[in-house]
Amino acid sequence: MKRCNIKILTLGCKVNQYESHNLSNYFRDQGYRLVTAALADVIIINTCAVTMQAARKSRQLIRQAKRKSPDALVIIIGCMSQLPEARAALKDEVDVFLGSEHKSMVAEIVDKWVEGKLKKEEASLITDFSGVTQFDEMPGYSIGDRVRAEVKVQDGCEQFCSFCLIPYMRGPERSRKPENVLKEIKYLIDKGYQEIVLTGIHLGAYGRDFAVKSSLSGLVKLVLGNTSVKRLRLSSVEPNDVTDELISLIANNDRIAPHLHLPLQGGNDKLLKAMNRKYTTADYLALINKVRASIPEIALTTDLMVGFPGETESDFANTLSFVRQVQFSNMHVFRYSPRPGTKAAQMPLQVSGSIARDRSDQMHAVAEEMKNSYYQSMIGKTYQILIEKCDDKLLCEGHAGNYVKVCVQGAKLAKNSWVKVQIIKSSTYCVLGNVV
Ligand code: SF4
Repeated sequence: MKRCNIKILTLGCKVNQYESHNLSNYFRDQGYRLVTAALADVIIINTCAVTMQAARKSRQLIRQAKRKSPDALVIIIGCMSQLPEARAALKDEVDVFLGSEHKSMVAEIVDKWVEGKLKKEEASLITDFSGVTQFDEMPGYSIGDRVRAEVKVQDGCEQFCSFCLIPYMRGPERSRKPENVLKEIKYLIDKGYQEIVLTGIHLGAYGRDFAVKSSLSGLVKLVLGNTSVKRLRLSSVEPNDVTDELISLIANNDRIAPHLHLPLQGGNDKLLKAMNRKYTTADYLALINKVRASIPEIALTTDLMVGFPGETESDFANTLSFVRQVQFSNMHVFRYSPRPGTKAAQMPLQVSGSIARDRSDQMHAVAEEMKNSYYQSMIGKTYQILIEKCDDKLLCEGHAGNYVKVCVQGAKLAKNSWVKVQIIKSSTYCVLGNVV
């Protein structure tokens, strides 16, 4: 065992979670000791800077970690490394910054440091995306602590939504070679995983950057045809990327979870245009109707932003009525926060914090109503649940294919086992049912 304690801290999206799990397993396999509470010799922080709040949290975490282990080598990976102002603000706490396309280099940096060969002042690598065309393969495989395993298949985004910095921090769209996707999924299945989540920054763009173009549905077919995965789930898919082929695949294959997360962001055409989202509410509604007609059991969830610059009371009222019309099974509501460097941050008519907070409260209330009504619609129906945990009081929980949390009381069920559950009632936390 290499006598070095590594602490890996993670903020942000599923892609960051994937990358951190991957690095944790890699370092463990190499004989390093992964620690959470103990003093660390190396601290790796996988940062998020998607909102001002996330950036603030990342900075706090870095400073706290450095205070706890003042002699540790501190390496920052992830989106924050790409921001010059963040690097300047953290230069006293951080030894090495690795940009978005250099995360995989962290293994080499740690090895060099252990061997006493690291020149800290020369170690930082910030990604210049102008020459980046290939997906950055991480060194390990991503095994987390849940029964579902995320597999990253894509990086980067070229949508340039006016509120979002991600295209500047993650760079152009790059897809992972299908053979590497299959290799990781087969490895995870060998380790006992039954549910795999395909994830990416712009998942629906999968395969567009290949010389011989491919697609997300092409990848899904490949995974279903070449692995024994029991349940395949898609993380977020942009509305414009949901093709007829993808809908038909989900409709005709019960190994694909009947759930689509389709970020709406704005429920009003004026706002969608200002956000540079390339669809209208009519397009979105037409898509939802098509999806529901083909896959009646589909669960639809979304992200929605309130308080975008220029959002008037009547725009907000339109948005409320639009989301009610769609009826999502769950909705993540975000308050807009300006990110310097984006077009939206320069827009006039920024909405005040108190108005945005009030709108966010109203939208959360609608999200809760829609969730309750979806939960109610599940009562009496039967679902396959993959058990995630059971407590001492014999309360077990897992997720149904529609991504609703299902609780079962009264029996000790094995983690990672499938049970058929009939839903009897709903609560705010989950729906409850009996094993049948
Ligand atoms: S699709 Fe829009 S919101 Fe999503 S990462 Fe790309 S630019 Fe950002």
